[in-house]
Amino acid sequence: MNSTIVYDVIQQNRTYIIKEWLESEFVTKILKNLNIDKDLYERDIANSILDYFLGVFNLKKEIAECPAMRQFIDTFLDFGLEVEDVFLNCAALKNVIVETLFENGADKNEIRNTTMILDTNLYIILGIYTKKRAIKDRRFTFDSKLIEEHVALSITDTKGIIIYVTDAFCTLTGYDSNELLGKSHNIIRHPDMSDNFFKAMWEKLNKNHTWKGKVKNRKKDGGEFIAKTEIIPFMNSDGEVIEYVAIRHDITDKELSNIDPLTNLYNRRYYRTVISEILHKPGGISLMIIDIDHFKKINDTYGHNFGDLVLKEFAKILTKKIRAQDVCVRWGGEEFVILLPDTFLEKATKIAERIRKSIEELVILDNHSGKSVDVKCSIGVTQYDLQDTESTFFNHADSNLYSAKNAGRNRVISK
Ligand code: GH3
Ligand code: MG
Ligand code: MG
Repeated sequence: MNSTIVYDVIQQNRTYIIKEWLESEFVTKILKNLNIDKDLYERDIANSILDYFLGVFNLKKEIAECPAMRQFIDTFLDFGLEVEDVFLNCAALKNVIVETLFENGADKNEIRNTTMILDTNLYIILGIYTKKRAIKDRRFTFDSKLIEEHVALSITDTKGIIIYVTDAFCTLTGYDSNELLGKSHNIIRHPDMSDNFFKAMWEKLNKNHTWKGKVKNRKKDGGEFIAKTEIIPFMNSDGEVIEYVAIRHDITDKELSNIDPLTNLYNRRYYRTVISEILHKPGGISLMIIDIDHFKKINDTYGHNFGDLVLKEFAKILTKKIRAQDVCVRWGGEEFVILLPDTFLEKATKIAERIRKSIEELVILDNHSGKSVDVKCSIGVTQYDLQDTESTFFNHADSNLYSAKNAGRNRVISK
């Protein structure tokens, strides 16, 4: 019997060999342990392995250079087979082939030759499999270690209770994982963040959409960090959200260079980085410039420190009156700019009037003199026109502010 005859015997007994092989103790165990469907295994794996060996016996294929072999190695990897499983699996096939040859009258030498070919192949397969498996295992441990160390990630249940945090999240927030697990995510909420902001966030999440945004958070030591945040709702097979995964990227340093330290509002530098982007958005875009009336007098009467306190209180009111998408900037001194994306002039004028009124109602007590100080402001509003450049857009609002001052202050002029 030569290799061609061995090929014929295997080919003629193909169905029997596959059946015996798949019913062998080891293969049955592997399929059961890994929960692999037997029909699927027969179709995707068993037949290609047998074809591979037939190719080798037919001398048409070089050992280990068969695409079928590479394919079943990859499938084994996907199934998560250990190197030992692959060995037992192939050894079981070898046994069935040897038995079949023996039953079909092969002599000692032919059986020894066939065993040699099968063993050489098994040796090569296991070599390739061991290397691939090691790469795969290493990548998994590598990935999770990288994530733990470098990705500030937290998972909450649907009620906002933290159920998982990475080491990087603990480092960022200053908390130990024990102090976070089981607690509400509000533990890192910063008092500067408005209810409106979170309301807009939940509107998106409740539609099962991913939410992205910049969030100021509070650390355990009371310090703050600003994080570019992405929250992804995770669903079960029925499409119900079961948890929220949040990934944060600390952008505190970058953000601080965009923030006015006295009022915590954005500065002019930030305005310049967002203005062109906002002007490209569809829909109405409005702008208002707000200037405190007779602020010099407040400074001169009550001192510079009191003036600073007025600026801070003023900024707080602006923050309360704007929406999540609006950009509020301290332009300089006692002058503020608010960019309102997705807003037509009529709506912007209403918002400006509301701001003017709240400021009019603002009374700040001077602790030294015991006097209460009224604060008022003038506002110029405009809407972006397609013919406008960045500077003509700004100049229109500025000249409206100038008119408001000239018309007697404490008023809104909008056109
Ligand atoms: P108008 O109604 O025409 O706007 O009068 P005004 O007094 O508000 O305007 P003016 O530009 O004459 O004065 C602005 C003052 O704001 C002058 C400046 O000393 C003061 N100022 C600018 N920056 C600060 C600051 O950071 N803190 C304090 N306390 N004062 C500041
Ligand atoms: Mg002023
Ligand atoms: Mg001014």
